[in-house]
Amino acid sequence: MVQESLPGVLDHRTFSRVRVDLGRCDICGKGKTVYRSQEAQAGICEGCYARLVREWNAKAGVR
Ligand SMILES: [Zn+2]
Repeated sequence: MVQESLPGVLDHRTFSRVRVDLGRCDICGKGKTVYRSQEAQAGICEGCYARLVREWNAKAGVR
């Protein structure tokens, strides 16, 4: 269970693509989980993963 997890807090690098059905996204609760982090014990959808990467890049100062 993810408690108050926000994109940008989770490290997208710990997520890897999965092929099995893991149910709903832990962030938005709507999308189908396509990425999973063992470390964060969370599964996220395509859209949230993209957002995670984007926000993480912004934080990291990537142009
Ligand atoms: Zn999502």
